[in-house]
Amino acid sequence: MNSDPRLRLSPSSVNDFNNCPQLYKYRSIDRLPQPPSLDAERGTLVHTILHDLFESPAGLRTPATAIELLPSRWREQVEAKPELAAMVTNEKEWLDRASALVTTYFTLEQPSTFEATHRELHLEDDFRDDLYLHGYVDRLDVAPTGEVRIIDYKTGKSPKPGWEEKALFQLRVYALLYWKNNGVLPRLLQLIYLGDGKLVKSNPTMADLESAQKSLLRTADDILASLDKDYWPPKPSRLCDWCFFKTICPAHNS
Ligand code: SF4
Repeated sequence: MNSDPRLRLSPSSVNDFNNCPQLYKYRSIDRLPQPPSLDAERGTLVHTILHDLFESPAGLRTPATAIELLPSRWREQVEAKPELAAMVTNEKEWLDRASALVTTYFTLEQPSTFEATHRELHLEDDFRDDLYLHGYVDRLDVAPTGEVRIIDYKTGKSPKPGWEEKALFQLRVYALLYWKNNGVLPRLLQLIYLGDGKLVKSNPTMADLESAQKSLLRTADDILASLDKDYWPPKPSRLCDWCFFKTICPAHNS
């Protein structure tokens, strides 16, 4: 039970609210359980491999090492969530798909040429008296020169032209948190899309961070107003087709 009276936000909960206030309520206020999804579990497996790859000495960070890790990390994932065993009917096909995503990673970065300073780094900040902001960064590298880059792995495809800015919001929030904690403006934000082997990069400016902060505070105020009125309007969109709560959502059950 969380006794913290402050609003707790992360980039994903902010996205939930902006996509659909009703969805935010189901996930963050009611905390309704959601069954595992194969896409999300595949993402977890690939993230684990890319995390553990950096345990090996630089020279051994090869596609072969990464692919070798797959069966054991998948077994651990199933042990933690036994219901996954029934969801994956063809394990070879499942591991082959994960292996293809991991192989694509090596076309985008050469992990033998650098050290990952932080993996799964938790960043947090007491933004305001009534607002706590946090998030987990997949990887944050600090170069010998002190320059910082923030990396996020995605197992889906890159956004269509014109949607890159929306996709970068999450990393700008991490950059803002890092700047608030360390007083250093990250030099590079990089989204790695393994679904189609593309990168989305940005060199953030202080103006970008200020704009992310404004947008965050605006959403936080909207959520606080919704909490006050207990008002969570559904916002139907094409996301509804993937929404687990569609069967109970008022927008689809009137
Ligand atoms: S089904 Fe659509 S409108 Fe309803 S909660 Fe989900 S995303 Fe929102």
